Amino acid sequence: MEKLLGKTPSELKEIALSAGLPGFTGNQLAQWIYGKRVRTLAEMTNLSKAGRERLAESYEVGVALPLGKAVSSDGTSKYLFPVDGNPTNAVEAVMIPDGDRKTLCVSSQAGCKMGCKFCMTGRQGFHGSLSAADILSQFFGIDESAELTNTVFMGMGEPLDNWEEVKRTIEVLTAPWGFGWSPKRVTLSTIGVIPNLKRYLDECRCHLAVSLHNPFPEERLSLMPVEKAYPIESVIDLIRQYDFTGQRRVSFEYTMFAGFNDTPRHADALLRLLQGLECRVNLIRFHRIPDFPYGTSSQAAMEAFRDRLSRGGITATIRASRGEDILAACGLLAGLHNHE
Ligand code: SF4
Repeated sequence: MEKLLGKTPSELKEIALSAGLPGFTGNQLAQWIYGKRVRTLAEMTNLSKAGRERLAESYEVGVALPLGKAVSSDGTSKYLFPVDGNPTNAVEAVMIPDGDRKTLCVSSQAGCKMGCKFCMTGRQGFHGSLSAADILSQFFGIDESAELTNTVFMGMGEPLDNWEEVKRTIEVLTAPWGFGWSPKRVTLSTIGVIPNLKRYLDECRCHLAVSLHNPFPEERLSLMPVEKAYPIESVIDLIRQYDFTGQRRVSFEYTMFAGFNDTPRHADALLRLLQGLECRVNLIRFHRIPDFPYGTSSQAAMEAFRDRLSRGGITATIRASRGEDILAACGLLAGLHNHE
């Protein structure tokens, strides 16, 4: 059964025509799926009954519902979603409330090929990329669906290793026929897969977050194999070709490991690397994982690092950790990790 979720109005029009329905049914389908958020063809009452039945022979709306939910004492909710209808191949989505905001952290792949050493997902290996329908189900299937204000592609997987489906998802989020969100409400986090990063920067106006973690190539390579194919210096050279002085923002994620990347030498190298770029650095407290050589930087080391960056002209913030008690914080999810 093919899923309608994730299709554009013009694709829905083609589907309608092929089922013998009038072309304008494409827009009606889009309104029902994205506007009214119905989950079955039977609910689309302005389509003829016979037309709905013909569509139902080959198509379904395709919203996957979560298999489970855990709620943190700080209000963060973690959901488990099946991939392609398969509950043994599940991913997680995390909803983070913050004042008036409700941000959804979404997964784009089951597992990941990138093999970052500090990441639980990287250790699991790769089990497949999500379709746009499965990525969008994370928005449509949760209890807070109608209240969401923002999203970050920081869940399981490297979103730029699944660019076509991620792009399709972003189109639904930002198109007038979809959620109609401003691109400012969407942030994609990547370790820097250069060819698709260029596409993202050319084709979308959403924010960018880059997982940096170490300004020295050899040290970064020891944590992140991607450094070999796409060195961080080349990633930053590419980013410098785009304008981040207006609405679109770029930030760098920097997880702090005691003694490995939290010294003044690292702060100074980071300042040199990012010199002149309009950006901010998010310093992230590392949550220990088994069989990993580095521990968590102390609060004092993180503050000293932040202050050194700030004195050098780069805004740096220490990010609050959320959802630790339900293993929803950065680096603690077995089914989900992020790029941080
Ligand atoms: Fe993949 Fe991101 Fe984990 Fe690296 S940090 S292994 S890119 S999910």
